[in-house]
Amino acid sequence: MSWNTKFSEDARAIEASEIRELLKLLADPTVLSFAGGIPDPELFPTADVTRIRNDIEGNQQISREAMQYSATEGYLPLREWIADRHNTDNLELDFGNILVTCGAQQSLTLLAAALMDPDAPIAVADPTYLGALQVFMTRRPNFIPVATDPDGVVTSELEKAFQAGAKIFYTIPDFQNPGGMTLPLERRQEIIELAHKYDVAIIEDTAYRTLYYDAPPPASLLEVEGEFLGKGKWQNEGLVIQIGTASKTLVPALRVGWTIAPKALLDKLVILKQANDLQTSCMNQILAYRLFSSILDDHVLTLRQVYGERKDAMVKALRQYLPNNVSFTEPEGGMFVWLRLPEGLDARKLLEVALAEDKIAYVPGAAFHAKGGGDNTLRLSFSTCSPEDIDRGMKKLSDLIAREARRQVA
Ligand code: PMP
Repeated sequence: MSWNTKFSEDARAIEASEIRELLKLLADPTVLSFAGGIPDPELFPTADVTRIRNDIEGNQQISREAMQYSATEGYLPLREWIADRHNTDNLELDFGNILVTCGAQQSLTLLAAALMDPDAPIAVADPTYLGALQVFMTRRPNFIPVATDPDGVVTSELEKAFQAGAKIFYTIPDFQNPGGMTLPLERRQEIIELAHKYDVAIIEDTAYRTLYYDAPPPASLLEVEGEFLGKGKWQNEGLVIQIGTASKTLVPALRVGWTIAPKALLDKLVILKQANDLQTSCMNQILAYRLFSSILDDHVLTLRQVYGERKDAMVKALRQYLPNNVSFTEPEGGMFVWLRLPEGLDARKLLEVALAEDKIAYVPGAAFHAKGGGDNTLRLSFSTCSPEDIDRGMKKLSDLIAREARRQVA
């Protein structure tokens, strides 16, 4: 009996993530991995988590609330904190615009269920976050990949996608996963103008927004749209939905994320979430709220400093060691550097050699492309490695690339 014949069309549309498959290979502790793109566990605020957990357990009323079923929309103080944190005079956000989700990943799942139909055209950056492609794939849409350059999505190409009928655009404007690019303010303004010209909903994923290393990124698409529409208009006329997460700044295991949306859309998302999992763990939401409102700002300063040093180490090493015909993005935040190898070098095949001979790992870039391509690209993450390991790993990788390029020519 083959289960394949029994799978639904939606289930058949989803494929195994190359990254998750790859992570299985990384169980070998001798492999130096630039593949993951996960926070460094040594930087988790474990003492604060323990202290706050003890506080919750020491208070019978809060502790019972934490253990009980709770509202699908989320824990009210957390919703209020998220609304305050993202509000502007123009947007006039309140807790009614916030749905707490089980990570930003569930925000994507609910938005896909609410907004995407089979065969409907959806604009995505080329490359873009694999986890989003995976979720969207279950809705069997027609992806329209939009070309990017070192500043992110090229707006003239985006307009073509809108002209071709895309009514949704998914984007990570800050320190993109996987490309590391950040959209300049002018492009953000153009995107909002185009969205309103063609009536396109925008899903703005801010997973890495607070992890900037020198200067903060430009105004978010949500903020730009607030300004574009004027005071109080976003609630009825807004097209930008913003999603965020505690995973990159606190800890992924909380599984706390959120969606900021106009109320008419939020109500639908709440029903979908209710059908999906009733609610996000109230225990975790209380923990997230107390961590956010007490340590977040200080903790993020530490993350910025440590990750910033690692980013600098990676950029410096790549500048020093990479052959001239390999280009890479220099991110201003986040966790990723994107490499473009000479045409004809296949990053998947190179990975096999990198793992076997040099014991280093990265993610081949092809997986991040909705409709193929990018065989000569790869993603490096600097978030979990020391500057010394980064230097050593980039030297090995650069030597390997040079060696393979020579072999190809020979
Ligand atoms: N969006 C982006 C761009 C991500 O990189 C990730 C995590 N890798 C997510 C969303 C999902 O994060 P989480 O579900 O842990 O909040």
